[in-house]
Amino acid sequence: MCPFVRARRGSRPRLFLSSVVLSCAALCAAAPALAARTVTAVEVRTEAQGAVIAISTSDAGKPEINSFVLSEPPRLVFDFADTVLDPELPDAVPVESPRFNQIRLGQFSIEPEVARLVVDLSRGNPPVTWELVPGERKGEALLLLHDPDVTMLSEPAVSRSEGAVVVRVPGAGGLECSVGEAGDPPRVYVDLTGAALAEPMALECEHEPLRRIRGGAQEPVEGRPVARIVLEFSDRQAYAVYPEGADLVIATGPHAWALPLPKYEGSGKLRGKKIVVDPGHGGDDIGAPASFGPPLRGPYEKDIVLDIGRRLAQLLEAEGADVTMTRSDDTCVSLHERAAVANRLRADALVSIHCNSFDRPNTLSGTSVYYDHRHSMRFAELVHEELIAALGTESKGVRNANFAVIRRAKGPGVLVEAAYINHDEDRERLVHPEFRERAARAILRGLTRFLCEGSG
Ligand SMILES: [Zn+2]
Repeated sequence: MCPFVRARRGSRPRLFLSSVVLSCAALCAAAPALAARTVTAVEVRTEAQGAVIAISTSDAGKPEINSFVLSEPPRLVFDFADTVLDPELPDAVPVESPRFNQIRLGQFSIEPEVARLVVDLSRGNPPVTWELVPGERKGEALLLLHDPDVTMLSEPAVSRSEGAVVVRVPGAGGLECSVGEAGDPPRVYVDLTGAALAEPMALECEHEPLRRIRGGAQEPVEGRPVARIVLEFSDRQAYAVYPEGADLVIATGPHAWALPLPKYEGSGKLRGKKIVVDPGHGGDDIGAPASFGPPLRGPYEKDIVLDIGRRLAQLLEAEGADVTMTRSDDTCVSLHERAAVANRLRADALVSIHCNSFDRPNTLSGTSVYYDHRHSMRFAELVHEELIAALGTESKGVRNANFAVIRRAKGPGVLVEAAYINHDEDRERLVHPEFRERAARAILRGLTRFLCEGSG
């Protein structure tokens, strides 16, 4: 939080004082008019959700304000009726905010007495909304400028569901989030970009093993505030973090990823985008088996990735994308043809879906995302970040590898290895429909972020 920038003293020309005095004399001569309100101080404080302008006046009543927006340069204008400015006030007050440049003060007219306060906005910013509320001190009015880009977070709700502890953060569902964990005490943290808390949060919890929820502000990223929510546990927990409608859910416990998800509601964010979904293998090519034979036992990679692919295609359609699947049933498609589909369509993105396996069962587990061309690196990072957060699987990283499909595809393409099919814990997840749905939704979020960022 920045301290108040005070604007009590300044270099306003004395000329102003004389014109005010003249005006008063004129009014007095005409009629016993009401004394005008005098603004004695203007203080500005920037907060995560905008700015607060504290206006001290000689009158306890609520000032009458006429407000409007002007462009070139963009600015918000507030005219205070029956008001004069203390001549000691400066002409301008700087504001330390990426949204607002400065606040200017001036006596707009003498007859009638109108004091003008102008907020200079940074270019290209969304419209700012405002409200006027009484301050704590007598004669103080607070002009609150709200930045609509910032989501104010309210207190999370904690509940228990099917053995998992569920922390629901209202209104945070659509925010960009990154998730991590740390030890001593064991904790999971979620950083939400474009969000702020009205004040630091500390909640004691009685939902063992969740002990406490803390919240505060992190360093802003590119001028946008970042709120961090921290869950403290008595011992290390598996977790899954995913949006549910307007809310963000942080589920913890060994089967957090298996909690039922509500129906997905698309909002057409990917309208006009051509996306190719490529479920690996198919037909005689079973992909990696759950166990190395003979005999080869299921589940097979080809069936799991087809289901994740179909789910992803449905989600993409709900977002208005133009979706092509390289296979939508149990057929074999050559690697050459899979890439050719994306190239013929000039697809905006290609996602190839696979499961991993390792020579020795129950040795490796986790999720990795591969890219080949450099222009797909960011795409891979975003998909990986979303997958790790949503699935709570071990991170096997973002890797550069020349798998044929993503090597031959000219546009942005990634290859997802959702989890290890020959690791017992990973396989338990892979065969679960809720895990597959979470994987598909996480890929969708990463892909949407990539396309919306416009990096290609
Ligand atoms: Zn595969």
